[in-house]
Amino acid sequence: METEMSGLNLTISRRSALLGATGAVAGAALLGQTGQVLAEDAKAAASGSQARLPFARFKIGGFEVTTLLDGTASSAEPQKTFGMNVPADEFAEVSAASFLPADSFTNFFTPTLVNTGKELVLFDTGMGEGARPDRGNLRSALETAGYTPEQIDIVVITHMHGDHIGGLAEGGNPAFANARYVTGAKEYDFWSKLDPAANGGAKLVAKNVTPLAEKTTFLEDGGSVVSGITAMAAAGHTPGHMIYMLESDGKQMVLTADTANHYVWSLAHPDWEVRFDMDKAAAAQTRRKVLGMLASDKIPFAGYHMPFPAVGYVDTVGDGFHYVPETYQLRL
Ligand SMILES: [Zn+2]
Repeated sequence: METEMSGLNLTISRRSALLGATGAVAGAALLGQTGQVLAEDAKAAASGSQARLPFARFKIGGFEVTTLLDGTASSAEPQKTFGMNVPADEFAEVSAASFLPADSFTNFFTPTLVNTGKELVLFDTGMGEGARPDRGNLRSALETAGYTPEQIDIVVITHMHGDHIGGLAEGGNPAFANARYVTGAKEYDFWSKLDPAANGGAKLVAKNVTPLAEKTTFLEDGGSVVSGITAMAAAGHTPGHMIYMLESDGKQMVLTADTANHYVWSLAHPDWEVRFDMDKAAAAQTRRKVLGMLASDKIPFAGYHMPFPAVGYVDTVGDGFHYVPETYQLRL
């Protein structure tokens, strides 16, 4: 505090000295200019949005990984989604310790494109058309990143929640006209057995996924999408939720999909219950297993709901984990 005060004094005395040296007329002109600039600054309207590119690129060996921002969603009452099984004061304390408000939060939706050099493989498709204005932007994010939807060779669906399968169709047609599809066998079995008339999730699966079944490869744990991209069962969030290991030239990255959906509440506290985890105990167990592997093997990951650009590392802290955002380690 004292240092800041003396810094301020120094600035003032320098300005006084400058005014003294340049004379009263020049000093008045200086003040006038400064005053004008300040007035113009004050008139500038708040832009109300963050201007940044909706994609980011990372290099994993010979693979180029592009995370694509489909959108963001801000809402109130985060504890209705995260930390459902902990007291409100504990939730507030943990949030405050990470400089997070306890009464609102922002979620991110981040499909990821992998260019293997031979194929363009897109993981998940965002909310799709008809989503609110701040979501459903995958097509424009892809185009800004330099691709057309027609170029996508394979679309992988990690699990069949609306924010992952919403973008499969546009105007009743497949949004990725030339693609084939890959998803977990268990996941499709689960949703396709439900009654679409009685279940909104199953209704969207019937509309967006079932018409593509003939062009879809259904994987089991350990199945391969293409050389260097391997499915790993990670059930809990949904019954057939799968994550994907990317391996190229000795480098690895895991696309963790919805294994952990908040960088603090789900990483530091893997056992905190999350509303959208269909089997909460299995989801917590999967979080511990996957995050433990990322931490011990020091593998970077892209998490669908991590703060954009959604790529980071995992550190072990106490009984939980800590999110370390990628800064420049994987940049091209
Ligand atoms: Zn999700």
